[in-house]
Amino acid sequence: MHFKDITGYEIERKLIIKIKQQQNITLLTSHFAVDLITEHQLKRPKSKEKLTCYGAYVFNQKNQEIVTYNAKTTLLATGGIGQVYRNTTNPIIATGDGIAMAYRAKAQVSHMEFIQFHPTALAHQFSHGRSFLISEAVRGLGAILKNEQGEAFMHKYDARKELASRDIVSRAIDNELKISGADFVYLDCTAISKKDFKQNFPNIYAQCIEIGIDLSKQMIPVTPAAHYLCGGIDVDTNGCTSVQHLYACGECAHTGLHGANRLASNSLLEALVYAHRCFIATKKDIETIKHKISIPDWDGKNTFETKEQILITHNRKELQSLMSDYVGIIRTHERLLRASKRLNVLFEETEDLYQKSKLSTQLFELRNMISTSYLIVEQSMKRVENKGGFYNSDLI
Ligand SMILES: Cc1cc2nc3c(=O)[nH]c(=O)nc-3n(C[C@H](O)[C@H](O)[C@H](O)COP(=O)(O)OP(=O)(O)OC[C@H]3O[C@@H](n4cnc5c(N)ncnc54)[C@H](O)[C@@H]3O)c2cc1C
Repeated sequence: MHFKDITGYEIERKLIIKIKQQQNITLLTSHFAVDLITEHQLKRPKSKEKLTCYGAYVFNQKNQEIVTYNAKTTLLATGGIGQVYRNTTNPIIATGDGIAMAYRAKAQVSHMEFIQFHPTALAHQFSHGRSFLISEAVRGLGAILKNEQGEAFMHKYDARKELASRDIVSRAIDNELKISGADFVYLDCTAISKKDFKQNFPNIYAQCIEIGIDLSKQMIPVTPAAHYLCGGIDVDTNGCTSVQHLYACGECAHTGLHGANRLASNSLLEALVYAHRCFIATKKDIETIKHKISIPDWDGKNTFETKEQILITHNRKELQSLMSDYVGIIRTHERLLRASKRLNVLFEETEDLYQKSKLSTQLFELRNMISTSYLIVEQSMKRVENKGGFYNSDLI
């Protein structure tokens, strides 16, 4: 199932049209969910085995105020975590917000070490903070990976060459880059006719033209980039998390369907199936929920306008560098330990800012990115066997 080379975009486009036609759906744009409301915020001891979710605190970015949403059921569908890395195909919003919120609410989060790096992202940083993806279908049609010297290299790593799985091709490119010290390798598409390329990959073709690459003569500079998180918030087959009345679906959820290494094109299918399952389960859940509780307003006293927004930007860049350098495609015990130590410093500095500063989306995101990174590092350290998207060279 696909729609040209923009399947996800097309699903979203059609969904938004439908949603806008529904009288009983209120769509709130410019609203950023900050934290889930559980017994912790209510300062009530948990009465049952499981914690309960009563809604969320949400930041209205227009008037800069936090709104309290008291909800019978709450669904997290906040997407991936790619922004914790320097190079990612993920959109700028992929800061692990839902995962961090769930973690703070004590929901179970697992398999965060399984991050899929896509081998061929265009090595051209766009201003919107993400790398453009060159689909592996381009390699399927005959494109060849070449190093700085213009030599094909995949035969050295796997008999399937360019058609090996994403983790193998990413590690091969990573190794070539380490040998040469270059920032990227090349994808040679000159064997594919212009007509075939344009017909199969209109979006990729247009993007290459935009940055001045003539595919019939020039090669595309490519580099691996963080692409998909196989782990996340643990859910059952109905999308229920370990916290009562809290659901999750899409990339922030860990359904287990992708194992340690997702096969291409499966995540949109998973997101659609689980969104539907969450809907059915939530509908039943809502009918049985009686709770009516009073929720305290967000406590924002003792905060001031930060004069140094740059501190947030610096910490974000530092986080992306440390995750890319120490928790990337190939990890080691030593690198993970270094990442853990540096994360602790970033955590303390950012928590201090968070306690004192006026509300800002950038600060909320940074805080979430640090929690998400902490989970990736911690769960990577616990893994004792290489599998799928996880590779620690000390475990060979
Ligand atoms: C370049 C690229 C190509 C891909 N191609 C394919 C493909 O061909 N087939 C396939 O199956 N998969 C593909 N994937 C993976 C797939 O697109 C994603 O896994 C999927 O889009 C995730 O959907 P989602 O609904 O979970 O998250 P998203 O689509 O990322 O949506 C998350 C939403 O939550 C919002 N949000 C986030 N945080 C907050 C917050 N704190 N408060 C309020 N709102 C928030 C965001 O603004 C966004 O609207 C691709 C991914 C990329 C990056």
